[in-house]
Amino acid sequence: MLNHIVGGRLFAVILKFKSTLAFSGPPNDGTTSTRVPSFPRTTTIPDSLHLSLPVRNNDGENESATCIFDIVVSCIVMKNINDPVVGGIPVKRLKLSNLPAKHDFKMTFPRTPGSIDPNNPPWPAYRGYHTYSFANATMGHRLPTILGKAIDDVVYTLNEQSDEDLIVDLVQCIERMDSLKSELQEHAKLRPIIDDGEADVALWNKAIVKYFRGKDFMNAPWLFAEAYKYRRLRECFSVSKYWSNYDVFFRQKCDTFSRSNEAVFELSGRFGEPFKHAENLSSSEKAESLRLMFLELTQVCLWGNSTDLSLLINMTEEQIKSLQSTGGEALAETEKNILGNHMSRLWEVVRDLNKDSVNTGGGRIDFVLDNAGFELYCDCVYADFLLQSGLASEIRFHGKRYPWFVSDVTRKDWAWLLNSMVYGQLFPKATEQEKEGLKRLGLRWKQYEKEGKWIYEQHPFWCTGYTFWEMLNEAPDLFLHLSKSDLVIFKGDLNHRKLTYDCAAPYSTSFDVSIGPMASNAGAPKVCSLRTIKSDVVVGLGSNPQEGDAIGENLDKEEPGWKISGKYAVVLLSEGRPGEQVNLV
Ligand SMILES: [Mg+2]
Repeated sequence: MLNHIVGGRLFAVILKFKSTLAFSGPPNDGTTSTRVPSFPRTTTIPDSLHLSLPVRNNDGENESATCIFDIVVSCIVMKNINDPVVGGIPVKRLKLSNLPAKHDFKMTFPRTPGSIDPNNPPWPAYRGYHTYSFANATMGHRLPTILGKAIDDVVYTLNEQSDEDLIVDLVQCIERMDSLKSELQEHAKLRPIIDDGEADVALWNKAIVKYFRGKDFMNAPWLFAEAYKYRRLRECFSVSKYWSNYDVFFRQKCDTFSRSNEAVFELSGRFGEPFKHAENLSSSEKAESLRLMFLELTQVCLWGNSTDLSLLINMTEEQIKSLQSTGGEALAETEKNILGNHMSRLWEVVRDLNKDSVNTGGGRIDFVLDNAGFELYCDCVYADFLLQSGLASEIRFHGKRYPWFVSDVTRKDWAWLLNSMVYGQLFPKATEQEKEGLKRLGLRWKQYEKEGKWIYEQHPFWCTGYTFWEMLNEAPDLFLHLSKSDLVIFKGDLNHRKLTYDCAAPYSTSFDVSIGPMASNAGAPKVCSLRTIKSDVVVGLGSNPQEGDAIGENLDKEEPGWKISGKYAVVLLSEGRPGEQVNLV
């Protein structure tokens, strides 16, 4: 439709909304563009207009939306627009001052359950375009750096190859990684995942189409965008012919474990021998010594989470060693830094597993793992104690199907750790006694696997961008499986972000409220989060709202960066609704 207007002014044009809305974050200068094109006195009217309008997103924040309108010319009046009378009829002109007063748009949080979805968490989401936030630093700086290091690793591997087919195939992997890095830096839109045969393709693409169409790396919630980057990295290799199982982070993971020798031998020296009580102890003394050992090892397992490669890219060896210190005095000191501390309740839950399990003598405990290497080693020391003490009879470890958030455990990492302990030569400077102690520990753990007391699993849901609020809907088999556990221990920062929907909940929000359906669904297991704090979401502080919020706000004032340093931690427990029938509607 083309129309010419000559010698008059366009009086009435109906703009018909066409259908496409594309949202983007605020422009860099903090302004929004709302210029409507003006026409000269002789002009050709285009078929459609593309207008950039300021809008509020669902968190009440400013974004801009590109709206496309069809232009339908309904009436063209060749008279002066200022005429008070048109066709003999007085025209009452619209006065903007007659419009209702403009009020500030305010969202109320938390959102009601029916209005929560992956793009709209219960409290405002963290997004990459929040300037000066950790989300912004991660999406804008940390992830491109991690990707750059990953490319270096592949280049190193490439230079070791001699077979042409392998070389050509690997070069294509590098080209795909380069493209991904450019997309990340240019804030490209999130495209669907290619069908590479992975079990999670449908889960990913459903989320992208349903909740994140038109979103890019910076304006999608940080949690989803960051997870998406690791899925795209997986795709760089999964579509290749020869390198589909290549792990770009494997060298880093192995290297950090072999540099953790002091803490590794400290633990194998103390816990290498099978657990037994000292002689001549009364039953109450035995119970007390068991309790103290449980509390100590819970802290070992907790602080083992400090060494997360995705966050330690610039840390020195000395700094890593001090983080890994597991001595009694160090633990007493670090307990002060556990800001939300349910350890004594956790002990009561674990202690009662032995009492409640009539047939098996001990319950089932699941670990949803975080990092490979030293942290996994600490998790296994803890799990070993739980088994030997009779508190647990079966431990299930849940890892990732492919390389994830740099240092997360894959099946290969799991096997590497156990076999390196038994057969490896990672610690040439260690004494014969130290090597022997480590080997004995490794052999015992491998035996647990053979006997089915330790089971390693890797459900596809763990490598998606969904939070655990959606587990029952998106992975009902996994929820059902976990509902049969006596206690599910979630390790680390990413699991905590997924439990709590990674949103700006107040510091005093109770753990039960912040994990939503994982606490309130029928059949929800007892859940414990062992997490050193390395990102924005912090909940479960204090025993009342005033106290909890004050703890966090004081730290905000006095110790900027406290939420990303790994110095502070939480040990939080939800009782769930175990034993009730899971509702699989
Ligand atoms: Mg991790």
